[in-house]
Amino acid sequence: MNRFSYIRAEDMTSALREIASAPGARFIAGGTNLIDLMKENVEKPGRLIDITRLALRRIQSLADGGLRIGALATNSGVAYDQEVERRYPLLAQAILAGASAQLRNMATVGGNLMQRTRCSYFYDTATPCNKREPGTRCSAREGFNRGHAILGTSAQCIAVHPSDMCVALLALDAVVRVSGPDGERTIPMAEFHRLPGDTPHTDTNLGAAELITAIDLPAEGFPRHFAYLKVRDRASYAFALVSVAAALDIEQGTIGRARIALGGVAHKPWRDPQAEALLQGRSATAESFAQAAEVVLRGAQGFEHNRFKIELAKHAVVRALSRAATREGAA
Ligand SMILES: Cc1cc2nc3c(=O)[nH]c(=O)nc-3n(C[C@H](O)[C@H](O)[C@H](O)COP(=O)(O)OP(=O)(O)OC[C@H]3O[C@@H](n4cnc5c(N)ncnc54)[C@H](O)[C@@H]3O)c2cc1C
Ligand code: SF4
Repeated sequence: MNRFSYIRAEDMTSALREIASAPGARFIAGGTNLIDLMKENVEKPGRLIDITRLALRRIQSLADGGLRIGALATNSGVAYDQEVERRYPLLAQAILAGASAQLRNMATVGGNLMQRTRCSYFYDTATPCNKREPGTRCSAREGFNRGHAILGTSAQCIAVHPSDMCVALLALDAVVRVSGPDGERTIPMAEFHRLPGDTPHTDTNLGAAELITAIDLPAEGFPRHFAYLKVRDRASYAFALVSVAAALDIEQGTIGRARIALGGVAHKPWRDPQAEALLQGRSATAESFAQAAEVVLRGAQGFEHNRFKIELAKHAVVRALSRAATREGAA
């Protein structure tokens, strides 16, 4: 591990001042991702700014009927919050499908949004990786790519975003609130993470000197028809091969709004408005769901070891929507 300095910020002003004054500095919250990456010499920040004393843990109702979740709320704190369980059970279910109880007790909402890919070449500093060292090469394209992306890839990178929580946040139309040198701004979840393109080293549209302060959830939480389905190699403590967050409005067997977000398939949580529009006004049947799944996966491209994911993802979409329709629920 490289040498670094450490400071504990007492408030937002000092956190923002510190990050702006030390190029290459990083915020640290739960530390469950950043410390691992530092131990592997993948991340080498010269300065750590501990933000755990900032008043960003609250979960509070908003006047418009939505819910604001502070960036330092832990994954467990969010999943077991009564309002989240009652109004946004899809989010609770997705969070509880991730990591382990111990990790969820440490991991924060802001850190979950910012966690980096689990591509093994990214972690292995002995191999080329465009995300770790721009302009070297992508070892995964010709290497072992079983867990890699099938949608939105580029010649530069085929990594996936590993989060479960972010897939549900995308399905729920969450908005990320941030503060930085130019004040406050909001970023819709759909625009928060980036596709790799020619800049795979840049995972998000958050500025280098910006701090995530909260996530806002709109009033509609789809509490009646939802499902988070996570397909993985082990029943627990494993990242998703494919995951699906599904949410539906159903009145007398007819679908109103539909939400389908996928994890484990792209460099960012993936959502396809055309597939959702196809379901609107249709009956909640396996046939409708299969047609939507075809639309979501129509641009998918597999590599040597991960072609199976295309069919797997289609089946997962159908199963998640079916569970949502019947409220079968559990992942
Ligand atoms: C063994 C293991 C298994 C896991 N399994 C899963 C899984 O199945 N599903 C899943 O979704 N996740 C999983 N995770 C990932 C885990 O959820 C993340 O490590 C965690 O959410 C990161 O949160 P943190 O607070 O610890 O972040 P940190 O490690 O403190 O920070 C991570 C990054 O976020 C930045 N950051 C943190 N807070 C802010 C903020 N407020 N504003 C701006 N930047 C910020 C930091 O600078 C850093 O770059 C797993 C992790 C481990 C170690
Ligand atoms: S997929 Fe992305 S993270 Fe993995 S080796 Fe290729 S460039 Fe690096």
